[in-house]
Formats: sequence, structure tokens, C-alpha cells
Amino acid sequence: MDAWVGHEVPSLPGTPPALRLYDSARRDVFPSEPADAATMYVCGITPYDATHLGHAATMITFDLVQRLWRDAGRSVTYVQNVTDIDDPLLERATRDGEDWIVLAMRETALFREDMEALRIIPPAHYVGAVESIPDIAAHVRELLAADAAYTLPDGTGDVYFKVAAAPSFGYESHLSRDEMRRLSAERGGDPDRDGKLDPLDPLLWRGARDGEPAWDGGDLGPGRPGWHIECATIALGLLGSTIDVQGGGNDLLYPHHECSAAHAETLTGSRPFARHFVHAGMIGLDGEKMSKSKGNLVFVSRLRGDGVDPMALRLGLLSGHYRSDREWTDDVLKTGQERLARWRTAASATAGPSGAGLLAAVREALTNDLDAPAALALVDAWAEAAVIGAGDDPSAPALIAQTVDALLGVRL
Ligand code: ZN
Repeated sequence: MDAWVGHEVPSLPGTPPALRLYDSARRDVFPSEPADAATMYVCGITPYDATHLGHAATMITFDLVQRLWRDAGRSVTYVQNVTDIDDPLLERATRDGEDWIVLAMRETALFREDMEALRIIPPAHYVGAVESIPDIAAHVRELLAADAAYTLPDGTGDVYFKVAAAPSFGYESHLSRDEMRRLSAERGGDPDRDGKLDPLDPLLWRGARDGEPAWDGGDLGPGRPGWHIECATIALGLLGSTIDVQGGGNDLLYPHHECSAAHAETLTGSRPFARHFVHAGMIGLDGEKMSKSKGNLVFVSRLRGDGVDPMALRLGLLSGHYRSDREWTDDVLKTGQERLARWRTAASATAGPSGAGLLAAVREALTNDLDAPAALALVDAWAEAAVIGAGDDPSAPALIAQTVDALLGVRL
């Protein structure tokens, strides 16, 4: 399917340091050293509700990764999926008496608009689960043939992956089996289902049910794909067996990313699936994680409708470190709005302190595991000086506007 419309990204003078990123599997910060063409897969939305600030924070995180790779002269092949068929989508459509396809198309369109407004560089490939079903079914058949999967003997046609076929299972999330079991039940899995070989075995293919959409699975029979194999298949098909970054919110680490990596690694025989597994923190409201189940969502489109400048929203989300779970408050938004206004005033000054010096410092901060709060503080200090007439670099205001645009995605 089509992604959203992109925008020109200014190119900056000089050379940045190498990007260093935290890898959840190795539990430390390591350099990301992609080849000339960097590859990134980020898990996209299940389009049954509008884009909320948690989604926006995750997308902005990986937008920074793409911007920093580009700044270092890499080309980037970025793939994002849309889980346009899954239980939550069908449940919401049924609850609201709506056609699930109409619901998915509407929310996907709104997500694209939000991403464009937030100046997220679009993925090279924006891929729906539905359009990938033939490839997914082929992978499920391959896993069955390799004895890494089994059909449940209850006549449903449901196929499960054997976690026992992935000897390194658990290397990414480092959780105990008890913890995996608990999270699996909480996040769409079915550890207590009868007939499974291991409670942690994830669903690969759901056999057709009355009243649910189904697709031809060849020897699998009609049905629809599981969520983890969807992402494994789309990533493998477009990016190959080892990608530079797999990204998503930290609520995807287990079971989603652990399972999609296990599927991909079993299919290709190559490990790790991603050189860096990168996870963004959750955005909370009033002390609770923002989530559909809690009903405490702040929608990007709602804020836009209220006249909030998407650039202020972006600055608000960048004011906390991407890996930390953090709160969204009126104050965070207000600070983002004030910061944007101050930066815009400074960018129209006739001169300021050294632009090249600030560019180097901002690059240093951002390549240090995306330390956006430090980058914001550096630009704040520069802007404060520029507005009081300090500094005599006449090219600085323009360079700072370009730096902020290219590296932070904030257009002044
Ligand atoms: Zn995914």
C-alpha cells in the first residue's frame, strides 16, 4: 500500500560520529555499523483506532535513527507494516457494527496524515498483512515441513510454532518462562490453550472460522496469519535475513519481537535476525501507560484539530529520552510550544554563536543512543544567546534551522 508523502531533508556540512544504539538483546549500547544501505523494520499499527501519542513517540524514535543514518551518508531501506487483519481489528469492527475493511482503511489513512504532519520520513515500503498473505502462508508451510510447527489436533486448522525449534528462544527479552507466560496471556497469546506442545508456542495460522474473513493457505487450508509471522515474513522478503534495526515500543519486546525473530531465524538459519533490537518507552497519562485497553489515549489528530502545531508535539515527545517510560502532561505540551516559539525567534536573528559548533554538539548528543533531551538543551542554550544578540556568526541561524530540521525533524 502507499505510505505518506515525504519532505526534503536538508543535507548538513561535515561528518557525524557513528550512531550508537542500545540493543535489547545484548543489553548495552553498541555502534550501529550498517553497510552503505542501512535496513530497518518497525512494527506499525493495527488500524482499529486513531494514532495516539505512544505511537507517535515510537515513530519519532525510529525517524531519528533514519535521519542520523542519512546524515552519515547511508541510504536507508525502511519497512513498516500495517496489521490490517487481526483479532483486535475484527473485535472493534464487530463492536461498532462496522465493516472491518472500512475501519482499517479509515484508521490507516488517518495514521498516514498524522505521520505526515509530524514530518516522519516515510518508509520505502509500507506493507499490509493482507497483501502479504501468500508469502506468509508459504513460510508457515515451510516451518511445518521443517518440523518447527504443528497443526493443533482439534480440527480448527490452527498452526503453532514450536519454540523448542528455536534453541536461543528468550535471548532477546531475557525473561523467565513465568514472565513470558504472563506477558503472552496479556498481549494476545493463548498460553492456556489445550493441545499446545508448549504454552509459549505462538500462533502462525488461524484456520477459518464462521463469520471471520479467511484466505487461501494452500495445504494449510483457508485461514489468516498470526501476528509475529506477519512481521517476520514482510521483513525477510524486503530486507533479507539480517537487518540493522528491528524497532517498536517496549511492549513489543515479548512476545512479538522475540517470536518474530525466532520465526525468521528458524526460516533462514541465520541469527540474530536484527543487529539491534531497539525499543521505545511507553507514554503515560496520569500515571498509567497510554493504551487502548485503559481508554486513556491522547490522539495526535485530536491535538492537531485543537490547533496544536505538530512541531510542538514533536518537541514535547523528544523532551524525554526515547527509552524511558514517561508521562504526557499539559506542561510537556506547553514547554514544547514555548520551545518552538523561542527557537523560531532565534532562527530569524541576524547572527548567533557558532553554528558549526552547535551542529557538532547536537550530532554528538543524538548519536549517543538518541539523546534528544541533551540535543534540545544544546539548541535551547544557543537560542537564548542568539535572541539577546550574543555571538557573531551570521550563518548560524540558517544552519541551526537546517540542523533542527534534518536531525530532529522539527521545521522552524
Ligand atoms: Zn511487528
